Amino acid sequence: MWLPVSLNRPLIWVALTALPACVWIPDSALRLVAAVLIAIGLWDAWRQVRQQRLRLRLTQDALGLANDAMVISDAQNHVISVNPAFTEITGYASQEILGLKLDTLAAPRHDKAFYESYWNTLKSTGRWEGEMWNRRKHGDEYPEWLKVRAVTDKRGKITHYINLFTDISAQKAREQDLRRIGYEDPLTGLPNRRRLHDLLASRLRHLRAGESLDMALVDIDGLKSVNDSLGVEQGDRLLARFAQRLTGYVAGSIVGRLGGDEFMVIRTTTFDDHDKWVATLREHMSRPFEINGQSLRLGLTIGSCRVPEDGNDSGVLFQRIESALYSAKRLGRNHSQRFRPALDKQDNPQLALVSDLRAALISGDQLELHFQTQHRPSDGELVGMEALLRWRHPLDGMISPGDFIPLAERHGLMTQLGAWVIEKACAQQAHWRNSAIPKLTMWVNISALQLFQGDLESQLSTCLKRYQLEPSQIGLELTESVLLDERAGDMGPRLQTLRDQGFAIAIDDFGTGYSSLGYLKRLPVDKIKLDRAFIKDLPHDQADASIVKAVLAMAEGMGLEVVAEGVETKDQCQFLVNAGCTAVQGFYFARPLPAAELEKRLISASLASTIS
Ligand code: C2E
Ligand code: MG
Ligand code: MG
Repeated sequence: MWLPVSLNRPLIWVALTALPACVWIPDSALRLVAAVLIAIGLWDAWRQVRQQRLRLRLTQDALGLANDAMVISDAQNHVISVNPAFTEITGYASQEILGLKLDTLAAPRHDKAFYESYWNTLKSTGRWEGEMWNRRKHGDEYPEWLKVRAVTDKRGKITHYINLFTDISAQKAREQDLRRIGYEDPLTGLPNRRRLHDLLASRLRHLRAGESLDMALVDIDGLKSVNDSLGVEQGDRLLARFAQRLTGYVAGSIVGRLGGDEFMVIRTTTFDDHDKWVATLREHMSRPFEINGQSLRLGLTIGSCRVPEDGNDSGVLFQRIESALYSAKRLGRNHSQRFRPALDKQDNPQLALVSDLRAALISGDQLELHFQTQHRPSDGELVGMEALLRWRHPLDGMISPGDFIPLAERHGLMTQLGAWVIEKACAQQAHWRNSAIPKLTMWVNISALQLFQGDLESQLSTCLKRYQLEPSQIGLELTESVLLDERAGDMGPRLQTLRDQGFAIAIDDFGTGYSSLGYLKRLPVDKIKLDRAFIKDLPHDQADASIVKAVLAMAEGMGLEVVAEGVETKDQCQFLVNAGCTAVQGFYFARPLPAAELEKRLISASLASTIS
């Protein structure tokens, strides 16, 4: 039994001993002494009680102020005391919970094994700490961080438990939000690329005998023109509606958004009807959407593949389905293409590089632009500069654009990469416009795919606007093969429009493509860049010398300027001066340099010329 007075204090014993003396001792003087001793004992006991009460009140006040909930339960886990924070967190007033077992609060989230381990630990070590889900009075479940301590008597028998816990639901919700941001596409609420990888990997692991996976990567054709004509808000609405319809249609399958206008569907099936599945998917998703009172019928390009025939590793399957989509895009709009091994037969060793490039595009900090100046060969005067893309791979070091640009083109990354280049080139040009360095046209290389797939024109105009540049400050270099590629349609009118806007246009690597001069007459271009192949053996190689002279003469007749590429020596330069070439680019004058280095050089050169 619990006594408010401690019995191991001497005054209490003296008082207790004096009690019978007070009754039995006949001597009145001694009885008085005994009575005084009893009074002292009682006074001491009373003092003790007061001190105990004070301590208790202080403890209760402290517990009342605590944010952590506290519960004291007996050996059978019946609640004997709670603090106000407990009531605040659980909703139970103290009189409602007193006497009930603490298990009343348990949420059915944890299984039997969890509670077994909880009690084993608590009984064997005397303490337990961890996350536990409980239920509030009104029924909702919440996570708490719980610390429990067992209190034992002198013999080591558990008499009470002290439970201390905090409500961690807000913290959990924050964690969940963070997870969602990392795994969920915010516009549609669908899994994003990262999450899709996990989901695919999990489906692959759980695939049973006789089951296959059908995968489709659906790309909406011309979303850009919806954005341009109806506004980005309506474009977003369309994407959300598209996602909704897709999810409803393929219920039970995994649906995710890879970004932009690309959606992925993964179905587990025992049927062998891949092509039919893709065709019905297309048919359903091509039905018109009502947006802003208009009926929009979308063109869809679909790449697809199937497990196990086309692979059973999630990374490889992603690469392959993207190859298939890319190949479908090459066929023009509104096509489907299933993966064929021929699509990546030469890529296998490079698959890792493709995913590295994708990561580099996301992070952006491995990519950079270098700049190579162009000069008048007679006196070295600056006449322009070319922006050249560089990739500083974290493990492999610098990778040549000649190696990674074809990869980017094959794997559907070129539009994004090209957009990155345009953005950076414009930003740099804007920066230099406000500095002391000479004002030069910056030439940017444009891949064929930026013309087929991307919307080069609106990208350019957006960037010019953003950086307040004039079109004349940017030149576009297109290779012969791009200009003649039928997939891009007739390039004539498109180039004419760009040129009318003020962009200069050059044919890059001239002489290496079709070598058909006829098209030069049709196409509105300002410049041709004579490929290095014709320059490198100058001036000794007679054939090259004749070709270079002929090209210069022809260009002059057509009013085109010629830039000779890859000029490395003084002799080459002199030959070109004599032949009437007015612009050269090559190591003889300058190598491609990072912006900061070029800036330094140009500033010190212009200072030197001012001084002289
Ligand atoms: P390009 O447009 O013909 O660029 C000229 C290439 O010749 C550059 O190679 C440059 O470093 C190199 N070069 C310049 N002067 C000399 C010289 O005197 N001797 C020798 N041997 N080489 C010289 P780089 O930077 O490796 O680029 C290779 C190609 O990659 C470019 O050829 C271009 O077709 C492509 N490229 C580079 N950046 C981009 C880009 O941003 N977008 C696209 N689509 N293609 C790009
Ligand atoms: Mg070029
Ligand atoms: Mg070139």
